[in-house]
Amino acid sequence: MSNTLLTDSSHNHQHCINDALKSAEKICQQKNIRLTPIRRRIFELVWSNHKAVGAYELLETLHLEDPKAKPVTIYRALDFLLKAGLVHKIQSLNAFIGCLKPEIAHHSVLLICNQCQKTDEIEAQQAYDNIYQLAEKNSFMPQHISLELHGCCKNCQLT
Ligand SMILES: [Zn+2]
Ligand SMILES: [Zn+2]
Ligand SMILES: [Zn+2]
Repeated sequence: MSNTLLTDSSHNHQHCINDALKSAEKICQQKNIRLTPIRRRIFELVWSNHKAVGAYELLETLHLEDPKAKPVTIYRALDFLLKAGLVHKIQSLNAFIGCLKPEIAHHSVLLICNQCQKTDEIEAQQAYDNIYQLAEKNSFMPQHISLELHGCCKNCQLT
């Protein structure tokens, strides 16, 4: 999983949004699920930058476009996007981030910068395997694991 798009602060983010939308459309087509205009809009808003965004923030932005937008609309759309694997939920922040590789099944660790709030994701199948093994050894049946690291990103370490 590449993190090049996060290390280049001057990157053209419109490309990221366009790419994300393109793969979201493809995935929805493959899974035979519908990326309705509101789901698409919420997805775009989640992708408006590389920072985690909360449901309340999304509602505020959506309200500017549609004063009648309701929280339930946001939650339903987010639920759809989560199930489709297009976004990840950051449990520790109760926020959302667009998935960088939605076309591939993956277990990733989210890297969240405390300074610039950028969130990256790196594939970490081995870490998950280790945790599953540990759980099994302790006769525990895990239903959900989320690995989130809070710290300082490459860019912020330089400044
Ligand atoms: Zn970008
Ligand atoms: Zn992902
Ligand atoms: Zn940073």
